[in-house]
Amino acid sequence: MASAAHSTGTLLTIDLDAVVRNYERLRDMAAPAACAAVVKADGYGLGAAQVAPALATAGCDTFFVAHLGEALILRPLLPDAAIYVLNGAAPGAERDFVASALRPVLNSREAIEVWAELGHAQGPSAAAVHIDTGMSRLGLTEDDLDRLAADAGPIAAIDVRLVMSHLAVSEEAEHPLNALQRERFEAVRAILPAAPASLANSSGIFLGADYHFDLVRPGAALYGVNPTPGRPNPMDATVKLEAPILQVRAIDSPRTVGYGATHQVSRPSKIATIPVGYADGYLRSLGNRGRCYVDGRPVPVVGRVSMDLVTLDVTDLPDEMARPGTMVEVIGPNMPVDELAESAGTIGYEILTSLGRRYTRRYLGGTA
Ligand SMILES: *Cc1c(COP(=O)(O)O)cnc(C)c1O
Repeated sequence: MASAAHSTGTLLTIDLDAVVRNYERLRDMAAPAACAAVVKADGYGLGAAQVAPALATAGCDTFFVAHLGEALILRPLLPDAAIYVLNGAAPGAERDFVASALRPVLNSREAIEVWAELGHAQGPSAAAVHIDTGMSRLGLTEDDLDRLAADAGPIAAIDVRLVMSHLAVSEEAEHPLNALQRERFEAVRAILPAAPASLANSSGIFLGADYHFDLVRPGAALYGVNPTPGRPNPMDATVKLEAPILQVRAIDSPRTVGYGATHQVSRPSKIATIPVGYADGYLRSLGNRGRCYVDGRPVPVVGRVSMDLVTLDVTDLPDEMARPGTMVEVIGPNMPVDELAESAGTIGYEILTSLGRRYTRRYLGGTA
């Protein structure tokens, strides 16, 4: 955390108790299936080293990250948990997985063969097998599965702890691909070793019990992103971002604001500048589109978003608020992550994983 002297004055508050409440809600929905936590990309930007131990204390015993490096950071903090690495083991990294008792997600026949060789050498090691049922991204293809069915040797040398697949359109409950993926998943499970199965991400949990299998894998919903777009958000918000006004510029004559002169001031105005920019994850697409709040009053972003600064039209604020030091709500009760994402033309996932490294971070609750 930056010291006061180095602080930009921008405060990111992360509520670990809210993350735990979200976990408990998802866990209760998914029961009797177990509930893991996806903490890749530094816990979707919130801080995996803070989020994961808080969830472990709440009873979560299975975690997913994308990369080995992310898993190695978490291992000492989660000594007893199962940690899966979604992108699998890069060639040569197998020893690092075994040394830290990490479980690769085996995404190809080649990955299965390499992990099986290790198994022949020193006894089967734990791993997940990932089936591609509709993402066309990672995971075993139908051709891979046919070959595995013909020669069970490699898979027999692996301690398969999980068979998993990943849904492509789970946030659209009516989309026919959901049921198709579930059917494909059920069909291929029959030719793989009997192991717990996992299909559902956050939105997949809301598709109903047919999608829960033995383990669900929420990420975004833990962090407050709405897993049911178009319907009220059943999750609690977990982050709040506030920035102080640095300067207020009173403008009487016609002028423009910011790079590209994209905003024309057409009335006597007050423009406030805050120390948040696209380098901090306040996306440049929010120029002339975003909105912040001061004490519940909307203040629109005017002009382009700069690297380190955003300009706000505070003309309608009372004078005692439109001045340096006033804290501006950038993300919070008036501007939830999903709404900010929509203004930026993106999804809440991108807003969270872009949250800046220059903010002073304050954690509430949990074990912090
Ligand atoms: C990221 C990811 C998840 C979590 O997805 P959310 O939509 O954030 O809940 C689950 N499974 C896999 C394979 C993933 O890559």
